[in-house]
Parts: sequence; structure tokens; C-alpha cells
Amino acid sequence: MENRKYIFVMGGVMSGVGKGITTSSIGAILKARGYKVTALKIDPYVNVDAGTMNPTEHGEVFVLNDGDETDQDMGNYERFMDIQLSRENYMTTGRVYESVIHRERNLEYGGKCVEVVPHIPLEVIDRIVKASEKDGSEITLIEIGGTVGEYQNVLFLETIRMMKIKNPDDVLSVLVSYVPMPNKIGEMKTKPTQYAVRTVNSAGVQPEFIIARSEVPMDQKRKEKISMFCNVGEEFVISAPDVDNVYEVLLNFERDNLSETILKKLRLETRTSDLSAWKNLVEKIKATKDSVTIGIVGKYFGTGDFVLSDAYMSVIEAIKHAGYQAGVKTKIDWINSELFEKEPEKTGSLSQYDGVLVPGGFGGRGIEGKIKAIQFCRENKIPFLGICYGMQLAVIEYARNVLGLEDANTTEVNRDTKNPVIDIMPEQKKNLEDGNYGATMRLGAYPAKLEAGTIAATLYKQAEISERHRHRWEVSPQYISKIETAGLVFSGKSPDGKLMEIIELPGEKHPFFVASQFHPEFKSTPLKAHPLFFGFVSAAKKRNQENK
Ligand code: GLN
Repeated sequence: MENRKYIFVMGGVMSGVGKGITTSSIGAILKARGYKVTALKIDPYVNVDAGTMNPTEHGEVFVLNDGDETDQDMGNYERFMDIQLSRENYMTTGRVYESVIHRERNLEYGGKCVEVVPHIPLEVIDRIVKASEKDGSEITLIEIGGTVGEYQNVLFLETIRMMKIKNPDDVLSVLVSYVPMPNKIGEMKTKPTQYAVRTVNSAGVQPEFIIARSEVPMDQKRKEKISMFCNVGEEFVISAPDVDNVYEVLLNFERDNLSETILKKLRLETRTSDLSAWKNLVEKIKATKDSVTIGIVGKYFGTGDFVLSDAYMSVIEAIKHAGYQAGVKTKIDWINSELFEKEPEKTGSLSQYDGVLVPGGFGGRGIEGKIKAIQFCRENKIPFLGICYGMQLAVIEYARNVLGLEDANTTEVNRDTKNPVIDIMPEQKKNLEDGNYGATMRLGAYPAKLEAGTIAATLYKQAEISERHRHRWEVSPQYISKIETAGLVFSGKSPDGKLMEIIELPGEKHPFFVASQFHPEFKSTPLKAHPLFFGFVSAAKKRNQENK
């Protein structure tokens, strides 16, 4: 393993306690001490990637530069550690088995009996080591999805055990646990965490660190208890209370000297830490007074009786980042587009927003409502940002209501429309005919050229950009000149000029009406907002001030 160090992060008690943010924050504080870091995510499900999963169940599909369709935690790693990851940094049980079976078929196991143990964990180790070599990292963080005690992540705990036994000084594990404080009882309960540690112990692993997530900071007594009953020294029990802003987590960790303790444990020199950029950011956020409200018109919100906005995680983050840069707090309202289908007059309620965003999506449900929302924003000069499907629907809206092509549509929804302004490209047609859905969209980073003098070019301050995609349909070449003549500007195009990447209305016609075929949200970071989001939120701020 050439002296590379590995930190595993696993979750105890329940899901959703912030393993992803913990992993990302540990990465950020180690990076702030001058170490080269990278991260991997292991998802225990059998799907080969996240591309085929329902966003309401699984959350956002985060797309990497190389087009891999991964888990939303990968987005957190990129944003917190300011790194760009690739498919080597992401694995699922499906992916691991797929390669073991492939090797077996190629006789690569030399006639041996191929078994779940040790061959599956060995494949996992091989992938972890290769990813950290490729990224040239000194410290690699590996987050294990799910919660310890689930049948399906046992093999990944076995991976930790096998790596640790060979290189005890190079491998650490961190358990992110939850310490509840039930209202009626009125004190923090550590027992669930004790059970979680016991479960990990039964897999032959003893976590070195326990990150105790709770609503409020943990007192000394509870720390002592966890230390005593979970077999870790007190300085290795870190209290991680809820915070207003996720970037405070890493500052809290540093207050507890977490990076120094980790480095000592890994026998690495401590080096000085520079967290000034994060400190400034958190202070700036705290001092911000003005705020804007953005309406997001989408459909992947519901899970049972709850509204879960995870499907739009990177969009939410990108809006926040733009707010940090523009000096405003950003509040988001979720609007189910189907509402405007049942009651079209309700589009008028969009006037209350400082900006409206229509994000990506698939299929026919809710799209007529989104089109109505876009029309309202265009006609009433409400700042609008459309992403992917949001851009396609804006083109349809323009074709219908400005060009007068009443039945304009996308062939995704109506194959027989007479005016397929959004259509599928020939190679994609073949994929659909063959039922070949997995990882076959136009995926990952593609370059685009910007038209000088446009809003897009002004915001990016660049003539050529690279952005991440995830779609099958495109603006049909047959309609481009007609649409342009009617006043919609294609301000970004693929370098060969064939694919439309950004649309906009000129500044004299609308304060901000911009949409992109790509997903700008994947490249926004807290310390550097994305230009399109920045333009959008700045326009929203202006509207808010004018309306005061
Ligand atoms: N459904 C559209 C397409 O596949 C848009 C996809 C998206 O918004 N990500 O082209």
C-alpha cells in the first residue's frame, strides 16, 4: 500500500445521520493541513450504478466528469474537498460482483474456487488501493453506505478487517453514530451507540473514532460513558451537534482537534492547519441579512407523508453557494408542478418569488405544469433558471406561445407530435429500441462554446466551458433557426455548433431568463459559486430589492 493511509467511515444506529458530511468534513480538515486527500463511496446495493434508481427513493444521481452516475455523497466530497472524482471512486455491490464474475470467466483466478470471502473483499481492497493510487492521495477516505448491522454491508466491514490486519498503522475506522435525546426522558442516551459498536466488533472491527451526532453538544459524562463502553479513548469521541450550516461541522471538528488526533494515530506529521477560507465563509453566512425566496417547480418530492428534497441536493447547494457569493440568504419553496395542471390560474402565485427554477426530470408527469410555470415567468419577467428538462420545456413553451406551434413537444412525451422541437438523436433511438437503458444517456463532461456578448458569456467570463450532462433528448436541429428568428438566443453550443447547450432571452427583454441543457449544479462549490446560479440569484436579489 506504499504508505498510503486509509480512513473508513461507517454509520451506526440509523441512516441519515450525516456520514457523507462527516466524511467530507474530515477530508476538508486533512486537506487544510496540507495533505492530498481523496474519497470513495461504497454503496451496498446490487444496482451497478445510481442511474437507474428512482430519485424519490434514492436521492439525486450525481454525475461525474467521466459520466459515471453515482450517489449524492460524491457531490459532497467534490464540494468539500475541492476535488474531481471519477468512476474509480465509486462502487456498488453490483459493480464488485460484476468484476469478480468477469475475472472468473476470463480464468483470472487460475482454476481456484472463487468464494464470497475472501474474493469479494479482496476485489474491494484492490479497487480502494487503485483509486487512491490514481488520485495520488496520501489519505483516502472510504465511506460505507447503509448502517452497520445491515446484512448487506458485512462484506465491506470484512474489507476493513482484512486491510487493518495487514497494515495496522495505515488503516483507521470512524463510526458515525446517533445519540438520541428523547423528549420525555430529557437526557442523551448512549445505548444505541454501544450496540452499534458491538455489531461492528462482531465483524472483527473496532472503530478508533466515534463521531456522536446529536441535537445539542454532548456533555462530558456521556463522552466518558461512550469511551468506557465502546472501547475508545475519550479524545476519540467527538461530539457533532446539529448546526445551521453544514460547513460549521468541519470547524467544530477542528475545535475538538480531530485532524491532529487522526494524523497522530496514522503516524503522520501534524503540519499547520489553514481553515481561513472556511472560517470566512461561515462568518459571512452568519452576517448575511437580506434574503431571497426561490420557487423550485419539480415533482420528485414525496416519500409517504414527507417532503424529501434529496432528489435535488446539488441544486439546493448551488443556490446556497450563489447566495453566499451574492450576499443573500436563500430560502427555497417546493412547488409540485402538477398543481398548475389542475388549477392553471395558480401560476399567478409564482409572482411572490424572487426567482423560479425548473430542474431536470424525466417522463410526462407534471410537465404541462412546468411549461405553464415557465410561461408565467417569461411573460411576467420573473428571474428564471432552467436545467436540462427545464431548458427543453422552456424551448417547447417558446415554440408554442411565441412561434405559435401549438402542439410543439418533446418526443419523450408525445412520439407523434407534428412539431418535435425536442427530439432524440439517432444513436439514442437505438438504445431505446434495444431496451438498453443503463449508463447510455449523454453523460458527463462535454465542452461548449459561448456566444460573445451574451449573458452566459458575461457570467462565465470565458469563451469555452465544460459542463456535465445527463439526458437523451436535444433541441431538434430542424427548429433552431426558426426559434432564433423568434428571439430566443442560443448562447452556448457544442463546438461543432450542432447541439444547443444554453438558451437565454436578451437582457432588454427579460431580467434573467436562462436555461442550460447541462447540469451546472454539479460543478458549484461553496467557495466558488457557479456562474449561472450566481447570475440567477443576483437577478433574484435585484427583484427582491425593487419590490421592497
Ligand atoms: N428527460 C430529458 C432527457 O432525457 C431531460 C433529462 C434531465 O433533465 N436530466 O433528455
